[in-house]
Parts: sequence; structure tokens; C-alpha cells
Amino acid sequence: MSCPICARVSDPDYRPFCSKRCADVDLAKWLGGGYAIPSNDPDDMEEAARAVVEEDRKPH
Ligand SMILES: [Zn+2]
Repeated sequence: MSCPICARVSDPDYRPFCSKRCADVDLAKWLGGGYAIPSNDPDDMEEAARAVVEEDRKPH
């Protein structure tokens, strides 16, 4: 099996991914959706804007 993100050989520790980085990329894709990779869907844009605003409101 190869990494679904970059198609390199999977690491047994992170399969089906090749590294933690690729596992994180995949996770972010599922969790972030339109936030990480903006789409042209207006609903996604609105969702992304809201996510950014909420991020700013968090105390640092
Ligand atoms: Zn990979």
C-alpha cells in the first residue's frame, strides 16, 4: 500500500500514510474541509470566514 497523500511507501507506524506529516495533512483535510483548502462553494467560504473569526476570538 502507498501513501494516499504523496504516494510514497507507507510507514507501518502511520499507515496508510508514509509519515506523521501526511497523516496530519489527511486529518486536516477531513476536519478543515474548505478552511484549509478554500473552494468556490459559497457555503464553504462562509464557513471558512466564520472559522477564522472564531480563531481570532480565542484567548492567546
Ligand atoms: Zn506521504
